[in-house]
Amino acid sequence: MKVGIVGLGLIGGSLGLDLRSQGHTVLGVSRKARTCELAIARGAVDEADSDLALMADVDAIFVCTPIVHILTTVQQLIPHISLDTVVTDVGSVKASIVKDLSPIWKNFVGGHPMAGTAESGIEAALHGLFAGNPYVLTPTDVTPKSAVERIETLLRPLQVKLFHCQPEEHDRAVAWISHLPVMTSASLISACLSESDQAVLNLAKMLASSGFRDTSRVGGGNPELGVMMARFNKSEVLRSLSVYRDRLDHITQLIEQEKWEELQAELEKTQAARSDFL
Ligand code: NAP
Repeated sequence: MKVGIVGLGLIGGSLGLDLRSQGHTVLGVSRKARTCELAIARGAVDEADSDLALMADVDAIFVCTPIVHILTTVQQLIPHISLDTVVTDVGSVKASIVKDLSPIWKNFVGGHPMAGTAESGIEAALHGLFAGNPYVLTPTDVTPKSAVERIETLLRPLQVKLFHCQPEEHDRAVAWISHLPVMTSASLISACLSESDQAVLNLAKMLASSGFRDTSRVGGGNPELGVMMARFNKSEVLRSLSVYRDRLDHITQLIEQEKWEELQAELEKTQAARSDFL
């Protein structure tokens, strides 16, 4: 197929690398000329330009801009593309995007690849970023089946695990496993930085190893993405943070009251439950 990608960063560039290696022709649009040049040099796209007119005549377009630009990008795309073009996005929230875009483009399918790194930009794009990871599509009652099938035909060979759900269900679920972890991991890093003894802080930095690497990774990622998660999924993020604060209070009380058996039981419960998520 001829595939368009708008927004050549970590996700857009990684999709381009994988789709090209499947034999598709990939045309990319990004704002900066330098990003377009790098995307071509890295082999993420066959051609790239800052002009959305490049998207005329493609079979499917992946909109991979920051969330705040997704709606305006699709509005600006519409004069350039044919009615048959299937448009999908990769935004980390779905309800507001699907609500805004479904009425303006019939062949729109909401999407969200559950994969990323702490880096951003075209330099961070990776081959095989999506392989083995969930990729959620959020078609509604009015989304044409043919549009969903075209996106799935492109994605299946990338060895993603395809899921369908309602946009609202998606936002509630990812608040737990993606957006809440960004906020708690950021709070963890920030709490460590509050250590007032500089020698202890320096020692902690030198001793940090695999445990800190795992627990701080998402809090040390792209700040713009974290703000978008909070801004566009505000009620679900706040709800999950409130429950998290309750759980933290509970554990704090167990420690204060030296209820070691109850703490042990709590940690056994979480140890057993973790594997259900991964
Ligand atoms: P990123 O690395 O910062 O890439 C975004 C790219 O979009 C930038 O390189 C920028 O390129 C380009 N861009 C910005 N505004 C644009 C516009 N108006 N028109 C065209 N290009 C524009 O961000 P990302 O991590 O790939 O995230 C992109 C999307 O993927 C977001 O919607 C995010 O929610 C979603 N997502 C991210 C992750 C993750 O872990 N990172 C995971 C799943 C989904 P220029 O240099 O040309 O400005």
